[in-house]
Amino acid sequence: MRLVRGWGLWSLPPAARRYVIIFELVTLIAVTFAFVTSPAATAADWRAGGVLVGAGMVHLWLTRRTEETRRDRGPGPHMDTSVVWFLPAMVLLPAWMAVLALMLLRVQLYPVARRPLFRYTFGTAGILVAALGSYAVVRVAGVTVDTAIGPRDVLVLTLAGLAYFVLNALSIAGVIALSAPQPTWTTVIGSRRDNALAALTVCLGVLAALAIANAWLAPLFLVPLLCAMDWGALQIENLRGDARTDHKTQLLNSRGWHEQAGRELARAKRQRGTTLAVAVLDLDYFKQVNDTWGHPAGDAVLRAVGAVLRESVRQGDVVGRFGGEEFVLLFPDTDLDAAAMVAERIRLGVAAMSVAATDKRGQPVVIANRTTSIGVAAATGDDADLETLLQRADAAVYEAKNGGRDQVRKAEPPTAEVVA
Ligand code: GH3
Ligand code: MG
Ligand code: MG
Repeated sequence: MRLVRGWGLWSLPPAARRYVIIFELVTLIAVTFAFVTSPAATAADWRAGGVLVGAGMVHLWLTRRTEETRRDRGPGPHMDTSVVWFLPAMVLLPAWMAVLALMLLRVQLYPVARRPLFRYTFGTAGILVAALGSYAVVRVAGVTVDTAIGPRDVLVLTLAGLAYFVLNALSIAGVIALSAPQPTWTTVIGSRRDNALAALTVCLGVLAALAIANAWLAPLFLVPLLCAMDWGALQIENLRGDARTDHKTQLLNSRGWHEQAGRELARAKRQRGTTLAVAVLDLDYFKQVNDTWGHPAGDAVLRAVGAVLRESVRQGDVVGRFGGEEFVLLFPDTDLDAAAMVAERIRLGVAAMSVAATDKRGQPVVIANRTTSIGVAAATGDDADLETLLQRADAAVYEAKNGGRDQVRKAEPPTAEVVA
């Protein structure tokens, strides 16, 4: 019972929650109906099913990196490329086998999705309904993809693809419209680019169905083609990423940090009652490093600090350098004490650095015994805002500097006037 009460589902507004529950019940009924009424599998079905699942798994595994990047990118509905395999399954296999194939591929995406279970489950229901919609179109209209393909077959397949696209988009748009505090067109139906990608993958799904129906080894060529597409997409993502990266340390720059931290904050606000923390770190007497050994040596120290930060934090923490010798971290799901412990680990990590560099005359030097002053501040997701958190952490840095540097300071809790 406690388990059920802990479900993220209850964090949705009531209307969205009702929508999700009813939608999932309808999906369950539709899947059961499809299972009961679909024919037994033939030997050819088993072969096509095996090829589809095998090729799909290879494809999803090879492209999981890009998929992750895409998921991290922004708000709004997320579309993935696995539909390339779902559509052929619906066109070529009996419904029960197609549903099983879809589930097998979908499960593989769970670790990549990094979404609360209830959202992943709802996403799966949306895909199942869309897929069964396309299945219904194909069965009702009738299609012969394994003999001469006529214009009528192409029309039916187009309709099946369209059914998938529309049903999937509608299911997701519904829940976002009901749960977003201020739904906009982009958050509800997704960006133009997302939709173009979804339409493209649906087209490829239709093409894959035609190819596999006629040559069961077609995935041998389909998988490399899909990976090449993905590689192209990754190049574009990388270019976008450049605008968000601090080149000296390869951490996020101010813009990248604010974007990602903003997303974490929005997530914290959706999951009521979670806390999150921010740490601001300023190197002590850093000007001395530049003055003594020159700027390049200072840069080497900054790079080394970047490496310490990366090693000290968890996946999901947001680490950035806003310029200068100040670094900023956001810790999701973390309270003040826990954040101070990480900050202390970082302080010790910086103190333990020994950085190989060259001095003003180009002679090798080793720079060690550097110290840092770190301020941490925390707030519950409900009343947190990034700028206030940063200001409070910054004030704590100032306290640390005044207190003799080389230390971690926790920010005072917000005063009563601020809360009221
Ligand atoms: P403290 O913070 O302990 O009060 O002393 P500090 O010497 O670190 O003082 P402050 O933060 O004001 O100095 C920042 C110095 O960091 C000034 C500038 O020379 C140096 N700096 C800023 N950005 C860079 C950079 O990208 N590379 C190098 N090498 N130095 C930088
Ligand atoms: Mg400074
Ligand atoms: Mg400093």
